[in-house]
Amino acid sequence: MDKTIPATIPEKLPLYINGEWIQSRSDHWLDVTNPASGELLTRAPYTTVDELQRAVDAASAAFQSWRKTPVPSRARLMLRYQQLLKEHQEELAEILCEETGKTFEDAKGDIWRGIEVVEQAANIAALMMGETVENVASSIDCYSYTQPLGVCTGITPFNFPAMIPLWMFPMAIACGNTFVLKPSEQDPITPCKLAELFAEAGAPKGVLQVVHGGKAQVDFLLTHPDIKAISFVGSVPVGQHIYRTGTDHLKRVQAFAGAKNHMVVMPDANKQAVLNNIVGSSVGAAGQRCMAISVVVLVGEAQQWIAEIRDTMAKVRPGVWKDPKADFGPLISPAARDRVKDYIARGKQEGASCLLDGTDASVEGYPDGNWVGPTLFADVTPEMSIYKDEIFGPVLCLVNADRLEDAIRLINDCPYGNGTSIFTASGAAARRYQHDILVGQVGINVPIPVPLPFFSFTGWRASFYGDQHAYGKQAVRFYTETKTVTARWFDTDIEHAEHPNMTIH
Ligand code: NAD
Repeated sequence: MDKTIPATIPEKLPLYINGEWIQSRSDHWLDVTNPASGELLTRAPYTTVDELQRAVDAASAAFQSWRKTPVPSRARLMLRYQQLLKEHQEELAEILCEETGKTFEDAKGDIWRGIEVVEQAANIAALMMGETVENVASSIDCYSYTQPLGVCTGITPFNFPAMIPLWMFPMAIACGNTFVLKPSEQDPITPCKLAELFAEAGAPKGVLQVVHGGKAQVDFLLTHPDIKAISFVGSVPVGQHIYRTGTDHLKRVQAFAGAKNHMVVMPDANKQAVLNNIVGSSVGAAGQRCMAISVVVLVGEAQQWIAEIRDTMAKVRPGVWKDPKADFGPLISPAARDRVKDYIARGKQEGASCLLDGTDASVEGYPDGNWVGPTLFADVTPEMSIYKDEIFGPVLCLVNADRLEDAIRLINDCPYGNGTSIFTASGAAARRYQHDILVGQVGINVPIPVPLPFFSFTGWRASFYGDQHAYGKQAVRFYTETKTVTARWFDTDIEHAEHPNMTIH
């Protein structure tokens, strides 16, 4: 198998500040590796304080002119960017595969979902429109504008290195803000390529910067007085830290966090559709999706389908992205792999029935890959750690429920609220479910209900801290401030307008 690293990946990843790619002076670098082979792809710097300050200063300076750039010009930048992303989608996907291990189709999907947000950002003029009311009092009209905030920052996770940065900076910048992006240190190459294409699309210098690093770099941005808004996507403990620290520094924060997504299967569901959808939605991307299904609740007679679920799941296998037969890739790191294997061991100790065990998975020719095979547990109960915790691996838990009401209660007792789905042929059951479930994104006979960018990504409860969500109208509200003008013009001044040189008594 060809393991050549794309020539476009530099040995050392630069920072992008004020329209220039610069080498960091940091003496602390981290290795970015291919999770399937263990090969070193590049090294990324822990950006120094001085460099972080330069990034924020560049964004602050650029804001002064960018906020005045006409809205149609900002929209046209997004149109050019969307075109370039489409033209480079395959090349970007190869890089994304190298650093995440995702399958090629999955990588293209990661980019495509981001392109759709850029398309939405190109509609920014309509999205930013304010409101008007004429004659709120005699000769007085009232109207509102939406204006950008200033410098915004985005801190992104490893699992969607294209889509999630693209949830953030295109909408923020289309609104007239400038941006500092701190991508995941585990796969920062794709976000740099996104920034390269943004520059090629004509983004003025200083409008977007990319810095690298971990906690110290994030904390610098969270507390910097010139940063007005923080967008975060990642795990629950870090999301809580981001929300608390950012709001403590009086900033706007939207923090998207971890998940435990349930699929409810009613006995009247289309069995083939259930079997087709369960596997991809649980072990696709090695289970490293915030909207992955990690628990299936089998209601009543649907519990008789367990053997078929097991047989369907047993057919999928991990592999490298260049192998078209691979169903999913490796875990992102050896630490992530060991953590998942530890959960599998705990599930067995806690008394769940392990129907498929992916602990010893291997892929020929790739002994250093972070492999875990599809893993299925039945007879899982809510007290078990494999039920309670986000495993973020290719591990599916089956839970039994007697009635729909029991399934709803179980899910509403789980602290997370990112996504859920129900498979049923009954409109009444689906309606009850969509109405009563305390989860922000619901699929009906759709396994992973990620809303398209003209809606917003509306996770609830422990899966989200903040009030305005990502993309769609909510993103515009998040990245703008409303200014309301109350204007009075005196009728008597019309005479001055008609006869400016006359003295009127
Ligand atoms: P993570 O929380 O470890 O890292 C996310 C970002 O935070 C990275 O940029 C990282 O450098 C930074 N970071 C890490 N530790 C930090 C700390 N102590 N202080 C400040 N910053 C810190 O998350 P991850 O492992 O990269 O991503 C996986 C997680 O993201 C999962 O929990 C998944 O559910 C979640 N996720 C959620 C959504 C959603 O929309 N709700 C989407 C994708 C991923």
